[in-house]
Amino acid sequence: MRWRNRRESSNVEDRRGLSGKKLAVGGGIGSIVVAILYLLLGGDLGDSVQDLQLSPQGGSPAESRPLTAEEKDAGKFVSVILADTEDVWNTLFSGQGKSYLEPRLVLFSDLTTSGCGTAQSASGPFYCPEDRTVYIDLGFFAEIQKRLNAPGDFAMAYVIAHEVVHHVQYQLGIMDRVMSQQSRVDEREFNQVMVRLELQADFLAGVWAHHAQRMQNILEEGDVEEGINAAGAVGDDRIQRMTQGYVVPDAFTHGTSEQRIRWFLKGFKTGDLSQGDTFAADDL
Ligand SMILES: [Zn+2]
Repeated sequence: MRWRNRRESSNVEDRRGLSGKKLAVGGGIGSIVVAILYLLLGGDLGDSVQDLQLSPQGGSPAESRPLTAEEKDAGKFVSVILADTEDVWNTLFSGQGKSYLEPRLVLFSDLTTSGCGTAQSASGPFYCPEDRTVYIDLGFFAEIQKRLNAPGDFAMAYVIAHEVVHHVQYQLGIMDRVMSQQSRVDEREFNQVMVRLELQADFLAGVWAHHAQRMQNILEEGDVEEGINAAGAVGDDRIQRMTQGYVVPDAFTHGTSEQRIRWFLKGFKTGDLSQGDTFAADDL
């Protein structure tokens, strides 16, 4: 991607290098599996965020360490991509006579507080509607990228764009509509609605990439392939096969690899918001 020497968002709060009270997150294969599932399936709505609160007065005082050059660079990258999402969504919202309320983004390591409870790196990237903030631990993210074999800067941009899009869905009232169904339907049905919400997020991440390319010419050779690879790597079927060895479609919450790639590409090719009504689609 071409991202250097471009505008950085002022909505990033960098909490890396600040660690408050550290909690042991456990070890072994079980926690790896849980971590992967959290990242890919559960994290977005904050439901995987554990409900333990950090007490600011308890534990050892916050320690800070200086960030490495590599960490600083990664932070810059995230800030530029977030700025790209601001440019695109401000434009698309105002095109519809609406105003876009830009979300915040918190970079953290290990553990931090969020409006949805305590965020652990194992929660994976997620969007918290309560404080309209995206939370990302880049260290954990790098590890997962390696594990899932989804490398590349555009793979990272796709994940950021996907989380930001949950904020877009929140602002458009789509997320509230979906969450209000949770108490009315059984788990299997609710999972199906979640899949539609998530596939729409993949579509809208594609719409973002389409317009960011038009506005900023961000893509280099191989970037779209990185995005496709990343979208495919986080399909429910592939994750389930990897973590439990078999596939349970009723438990899908994000859609299959094939679906995620297809909706992302549809958004990327058309850039047309009106084609992303996954809730009305007969064929997902
Ligand atoms: Zn999501």
